[in-house]
Amino acid sequence: MKTEQLYEGKAKKVFMTEDPEQLIVSYKDDATAFNGLKKGTIAGKGVINNRMSNLLMQLLEKAGVPTHFIEELSERETLVKRVSIVPLEVIIRNYSAGSFAKRYGVVEGIRFDEPTIEFSYKNDDLGDPLMNSYHALALKLATKEEIETIKRYAFLVNETLSKFWLECGVILIDFKLEFGRLSDGTIVLADEISPDTCRLWDEKTHEKLDKDRFRRDMGGVEDAYSEVMKRLMENI
Ligand code: UDP
Repeated sequence: MKTEQLYEGKAKKVFMTEDPEQLIVSYKDDATAFNGLKKGTIAGKGVINNRMSNLLMQLLEKAGVPTHFIEELSERETLVKRVSIVPLEVIIRNYSAGSFAKRYGVVEGIRFDEPTIEFSYKNDDLGDPLMNSYHALALKLATKEEIETIKRYAFLVNETLSKFWLECGVILIDFKLEFGRLSDGTIVLADEISPDTCRLWDEKTHEKLDKDRFRRDMGGVEDAYSEVMKRLMENI
């Protein structure tokens, strides 16, 4: 099935297949933070992120969000639709945390009345700078219609996943999405949805069950990934 390797990223490798419209993604245990400055491994992360991302994407498809998911091939490998990635990181927040808390000088864990949306320009050399939709349009990163579609899907993802995670006793604090274009131009959700890309807190204790444990050297990283995966499997 796999032919040549197309790309190796921080957490995944991407391979071509015989079908030019399909790729195979292989999830690694490698972890990076702070734009690659901090490097490490989280044992078993690739297996968890592959499984979790695939289950959540299937849930989202049912809720009306088209995704790149086709079929899980193995513990670490998934067949996906080939897309060209829209170079925007789309971030939705339900509570203050991370760079939001830092930028605006507030504590983490403030619940917002309405979720927020923001974009970052996906560009490692520039450190993924924050941008608004006018900047994205000016730089021709996406069309007006594409940005509207992306926003609509991103809020639908938030509604669907916030509800699902609460059933698991987990608060979806914030998350990052990436979208891509199929060869006919259709916008679909791509990349992954996992504890690498979401902040997930225990509903009762507010214990962090995500990559912040790695970013902040808190320990218990593997256990946190296993715990959220266990809760997901009990409720999916
Ligand atoms: N995020 C991500 N990749 C990035 C930046 C952020 O997956 O390159 C996720 C992060 O895990 C969190 C959300 O997006 O769930 C918001 O992150 P934030 O802007 O607070 O940045 P951070 O504090 O992670 O640098």
